[in-house]
Amino acid sequence: MNVYDGERMAELMAAQGLTAAADAGSADLVVLNTCHIREKATEKVYSDIGRLRKHGKDPMIAVAGCVAQAEGEEIVRRAKVDVVVGPQAYHNLPQLVADAAAGKAALDTDMPIASKFGALPRRRKVGPSAFLTVQEGCDKFCTYCVVPYTRGAEVSRPFAAIVDEAKALVDAGAREITLLGQNVNAWDDAEGTGLHGLIAALDRIEGLARIRYTTSHPNDMREGLIRAHAEVEKLMPFLHLPVQSGSDRVLKAMNRSHSRDSYLRILDRVRAARPDIALSGDFIVGFPGETDAEFEATLSLVDAVGYAQCFSFKYSPRPGTPAADMADQIAAEVMDERLQRLQASLNRHQAAFNAATAGRTCPVLIERTGKLPGQMLGKSPWLQSVHLLTDAKIGDLIDVEIVRADPNSLSGVQRARVAA
Ligand code: SAH
Ligand code: SF4
Repeated sequence: MNVYDGERMAELMAAQGLTAAADAGSADLVVLNTCHIREKATEKVYSDIGRLRKHGKDPMIAVAGCVAQAEGEEIVRRAKVDVVVGPQAYHNLPQLVADAAAGKAALDTDMPIASKFGALPRRRKVGPSAFLTVQEGCDKFCTYCVVPYTRGAEVSRPFAAIVDEAKALVDAGAREITLLGQNVNAWDDAEGTGLHGLIAALDRIEGLARIRYTTSHPNDMREGLIRAHAEVEKLMPFLHLPVQSGSDRVLKAMNRSHSRDSYLRILDRVRAARPDIALSGDFIVGFPGETDAEFEATLSLVDAVGYAQCFSFKYSPRPGTPAADMADQIAAEVMDERLQRLQASLNRHQAAFNAATAGRTCPVLIERTGKLPGQMLGKSPWLQSVHLLTDAKIGDLIDVEIVRADPNSLSGVQRARVAA
């Protein structure tokens, strides 16, 4: 979502006549779009600001994103930046930059009722795989998470605005659209269309070849969406469905509102609808009070599912969240060791999933040039990176036989161009 927001801010500034600098060191204005989800991401902002001040040409600095939202004026005090703008107010960036240039205070962390999206320019030029935010915010309040505080309450963008933006993206060069939301499968409207209804509308857009969506919450995995995986050919066989832990006690303490078992049952239904679906998830190790046995439950869940790829994190206490004040915070060494074990297991599963693709022929969407002459890089339906030598162009969809599977990517040979 930060990639999407960054693109939209760049479009806004371009509409003001600004052009992109070659690098941060030569820029007159630097917009840092920030993440507050874990402490490390937050601290990075301050080191980046320090580096810009030291090596850049003392640019105007705007801090956007969730660190801006959470820390507000504190950033101005700590790092003397020129503009602070929250994730729901970035349509005001041009005005804030103008205010700062005129020596006025420029801070906007409002969460207005009218959404920012209406104030953003139309999409003009995008790559073959584009993002489209359809839902923002979260009402679920997992006890470790800052998102409900930094992104605000759960809001769905209107159906018509999304379909319009999707068409504009396709006109601007997109062949694949990934629908985005903190809980994207909670997207809905007054008619109860649901994410599957939105996907059905996008399915009808000529020129669009692939649809994806991320991130989903287990509790919002409705029957219609599961069925869409069986019925909508453009919907790619990939589901990112974070579980966080395999222990019911930990899930309850996290306020996750799904259990190990209910999660596994959802995956069974998804696999029944789309047997080749690639599964993905997020995990947190070292949540306060997590015992060895509870961590083992996470490892056994990973084995039970057989994920294609995952993200895994050490628990990071976030100021203002309930878990930050819980007893039994886990020692750093224990978290390190657990993360290593979990990642070793996830890597094994990913390698096995990739190995199972070897020998198959599948459509690959070419996204960019590779490092070697004539080499191109694309994505399989299961979101694996595929390298190949081809004269196909960026945006082409070609049939590729997978001839080699490595732990992190595949190599293939072109078979045919796919009509789309
Ligand atoms: N809404 C999605 C996740 C969005 S946040 C969901 O609930 O599934 C992305 C991921 O960051 C989460 O899935 C979680 O694994 C991780 N995360 C969030 N807060 C964290 C924290 N305090 N420490 C470590 N990881 C965290
Ligand atoms: Fe954070 Fe996701 Fe939980 Fe919402 S559902 S609080 S975004 S982890």
